[in-house]
Amino acid sequence: MTVTLSNPMIGSVMSRDGLNPNAVQYDPSIPDGLNATLDSPISIDGRPRPDTIYEVPTRCGRAVRLDTGQVLKLINPSGHQVCDLWAFCADDMRELLSMEHVRTALGRTMPRPRDVLVSNRRRPMLELVEDSSPGVHDTTIAACDAARYRQLGVDGYHDNCVDNLRMALMAIGEKAPEVPSPLNVWMNIPVSPDGSFEWLPPVARPGDWVSIRALQDCIVVMSACPQDITPVNGANGVPEPLEFTVCAGPAR
Ligand SMILES: [Zn+2]
Repeated sequence: MTVTLSNPMIGSVMSRDGLNPNAVQYDPSIPDGLNATLDSPISIDGRPRPDTIYEVPTRCGRAVRLDTGQVLKLINPSGHQVCDLWAFCADDMRELLSMEHVRTALGRTMPRPRDVLVSNRRRPMLELVEDSSPGVHDTTIAACDAARYRQLGVDGYHDNCVDNLRMALMAIGEKAPEVPSPLNVWMNIPVSPDGSFEWLPPVARPGDWVSIRALQDCIVVMSACPQDITPVNGANGVPEPLEFTVCAGPAR
């Protein structure tokens, strides 16, 4: 199957058989394949209406612009759905939320409430304000992509978080400057003393949520991870949607 990407951001770029045609000249902003993410932003520029509940549909991604001080509440209706989350500075998207720098700043692999999450320039970017879940999240695992699913034996295109990131940004008129490692909200990857880790279902409960405050103007991208081969989205491997809302947030 041949797919034409007609988004004006990139003109007409051919993606053949789910393989990035720019594999030789890699462009981090170009998806390897398409899903509904590309055509269904929350608004033309990603600005949210206040106190409106939006859905991140099953297997898809969404981008949302946050002004400094605004609070994003991310909800896990099923309890067993992982959210890959990225953030980019609105003024210069080359400054972005960096898991390497977050781990260095926190001295831990899992952020907790009141933790400040920093950028690749070590500047405060987000604050994890509250977390109704047991607090099991991951900062170590790369987002799933087309290559990952090929390695897992998938024949043909499989929805994936990296393409959801790319398409969610394109849908609001932006381009991914690179593909950073995500904050994997609710992803359960326990690390053993010998350094090995396991892929386990989330321990969140239905309706659990986290709230995240923007410490600078930024664009946050969320992907409802479409992983249905490993058990990261539950033992039955059934991806589900997520929900989010944006509010002004209390004065600090
Ligand atoms: Zn994923």
